[in-house]
Amino acid sequence: MIHRSASGKALVCLGIESTAHTAGMAVASSKGEILTNVNAVYKAPMGQGIHPREAAQHHCDVLPTMLRRVIYKLDIGLDAVDCISFSSGPGLGPVLRTGATFARALALWLEKPLIPIHHAIGHIEIASLMTGAEDPLVLLVSGGHTSIAAFGDGFWRVYGETEDITLGNLLDVFAREAGLSFPGGAVIEDLAKKGRNYIELPYVVKGNDVSYSGLLTAALKRLKDGNGIEDVCFSLQEVAFSMLTEATERALAHTERKEVLLTGGVAANARLQNMINSIAQDHGAEAYVVPKEYSGDSGAQIAWTGILAFQSGVRVDVERSFVKPKWRLDEVRIPWR
Ligand code: ATP
Repeated sequence: MIHRSASGKALVCLGIESTAHTAGMAVASSKGEILTNVNAVYKAPMGQGIHPREAAQHHCDVLPTMLRRVIYKLDIGLDAVDCISFSSGPGLGPVLRTGATFARALALWLEKPLIPIHHAIGHIEIASLMTGAEDPLVLLVSGGHTSIAAFGDGFWRVYGETEDITLGNLLDVFAREAGLSFPGGAVIEDLAKKGRNYIELPYVVKGNDVSYSGLLTAALKRLKDGNGIEDVCFSLQEVAFSMLTEATERALAHTERKEVLLTGGVAANARLQNMINSIAQDHGAEAYVVPKEYSGDSGAQIAWTGILAFQSGVRVDVERSFVKPKWRLDEVRIPWR
């Protein structure tokens, strides 16, 4: 549906992403267009994880240049922007505060409403926009999330999740410890394609939740024991993805949804797509995968969700626009679904 302001023009939102590695800025319109989407990723030194203060400094350095690029690319001028959205959580405190400060300053300067967005809901809404999925069972897999969720009575209900580390974290930490480059998911996917032998690894599904920390330790041990990296990557993917596919299939049978939507950075993985596709087929459901361009963190997910939230009257006063590093997906009331 195309929504318009009182003057009849489509609504326009400038969204700012800043939860982890990626600083992003994008402009979306209520016609469902992403007018511009500019992102920059902080890279930790080889062998190290993300350092929140360094990442915050990176985002602080790149956001002003991004704003100039957005204005240049937009050619409608900042006056055309109806609201400013920002990811207010979950994420790393110093990084979240950098994006929030930038968004607050812009909202005050332009005298436009400020819209707080839950980052994971951004992953779901951009995937829904790009694929056309309407009422899916969602599998959100990224560095910060491993959640199986379906919408009901105003909230995303979580039907399964990780009990410890996320799927993205499993892949990234394994890659880092194995001396592979960061982020590790795509590198592991490439190596796994060359794996020929399955090596036994712990498969841990508890109720409808998964647990990955024992799998990480075991995979690293198999590597240390002298198994080839290709075989370990192949086995790691098979076990980690099968665990999640089993839990997703159970949630699909329970919720009887007719769509499954795979989103988040790990959704780019062809083997995982393949497994989810196969359970969807078994249950007569349609499988949708977020396009690769929008699978990882981006300003686009925040700008588009900003449009949806703005149209539903979601706003926050600058003085009350706190960030929420531990905000859960199922705590957010969604008025637009
Ligand atoms: P969140 O979005 O929950 O805050 P994040 O910012 O770390 O977490 P994303 O940018 O959505 O997450 O995704 C990054 C993750 O995606 C990393 O863990 C990365 O290894 C993984 N990833 C990217 N490409 C692939 C791939 N082809 N196969 C598997 N994993 C992948």
